[in-house]
Amino acid sequence: MARLVLEHVTRRFPGVGDSSVAAVSDVTLDVADGELVVLVGPSGAGKSTLLRLIAGLDQPTEGILRIGDRVVNSVEPEGRDVAMVFQHHALYPHLTVFENLAFGLRLLKRPRVEIQQKITDAAETLELGSLLHRLPSTLSGGERQRVALGRALVRNPGVLLLDEPLANLDASMRSDLRREIKRLQARLRPTMIYVTHDQVEAMTLGQRIVVLRHGRVQQDAEPLRIYFSPANLFVAGFIGSPPLNQVPGTLRRADTGWRFTARTAAGIPAVDLPLPPQISFSNEPETGMAVVLGLRPEHISRAPSSGSISEPWTLKARVEFLEPLGPETLVHLVSPLGPLVARWTGASQPAETREYPVRLDLEHALFFSAATGEALRQRTPAGPQPGFPQ
Ligand code: ADP
Repeated sequence: MARLVLEHVTRRFPGVGDSSVAAVSDVTLDVADGELVVLVGPSGAGKSTLLRLIAGLDQPTEGILRIGDRVVNSVEPEGRDVAMVFQHHALYPHLTVFENLAFGLRLLKRPRVEIQQKITDAAETLELGSLLHRLPSTLSGGERQRVALGRALVRNPGVLLLDEPLANLDASMRSDLRREIKRLQARLRPTMIYVTHDQVEAMTLGQRIVVLRHGRVQQDAEPLRIYFSPANLFVAGFIGSPPLNQVPGTLRRADTGWRFTARTAAGIPAVDLPLPPQISFSNEPETGMAVVLGLRPEHISRAPSSGSISEPWTLKARVEFLEPLGPETLVHLVSPLGPLVARWTGASQPAETREYPVRLDLEHALFFSAATGEALRQRTPAGPQPGFPQ
């Protein structure tokens, strides 16, 4: 087990003509011994390149990589004490599960008794006992991925890298294996980097999530902090499903507090909303600043009756269409602020095409600079924070 440190790591590839493309750009990361970090981002964000750099399958153009107390930039992959599990389980098809698990250990010339013991342990942990004599072609996708995981674990690596290991599995198997990986990590404590483009996987697995885009770290924080205090509009839109509602407009300081004026389409009267007093900013925005107001679907609720429409944060919206999910319904609304998606629970379904009074729970609103997309720092966190009593 080992601490993993990346200092200003960049990897450029030759681009068109003399130009170059940075697949990974100035990434600094410190993963503690035994920590699990989830690396998440859309396709092309640089996740696989970063893993390949850590594994030693590729070299950084700039920056320093440390594993344990060694700088490993010029250490060969075999000498790095790193194991990797890929999306496509590369099991040897002609070898049994037992032989697949033993393969790496035999290459390392480990004694036969030790190999037997390690495989017995791994088989028990991963519930592979009854599969040891089977060939990979007779296993399900999930079982094969468990063998791939076992093969990495028997080597007892300092750092375990997982590159979208569950991407090819169906939803229920993914959820089972996710639980298993979490359990394994808690028990065996390898330092682990888990790559995914799936935000649900990132939220449920990670103690810490690093969001990557265009090769750059966008945010590095605990899952709930990323959800409730996203660093910028990209993170806010990427984490959360359905994504954050975004309403462009301006902020203005009035005698009574902050107000938000939504930018409405031509011909639609302006919507000017007083913000609740708990909204305050660490750095006062300039009055008239162009911002984007962000509101999660669960923070747009159905107002109790049409009588409450005079409340400042209530407006009328028409239901365009519904996505009933059972315990909740995703309600696509057309409002004076533009299209909004709300998440409503409760037995009585709203009706399509009807108008309803909806309440904007603006105490949860997030604000971003329209120019840069960066979040404006708010004094009161917008949601429960890790470690806060609920
Ligand atoms: P992800 O794993 O997040 O989908 P990758 O690390 O595979 O992203 O790729 C990041 C970017 O680097 C992409 O734009 C990709 O086209 C580019 N890239 C990756 N490998 C190479 C390569 N060998 N040569 C040129 N460009 C590459």
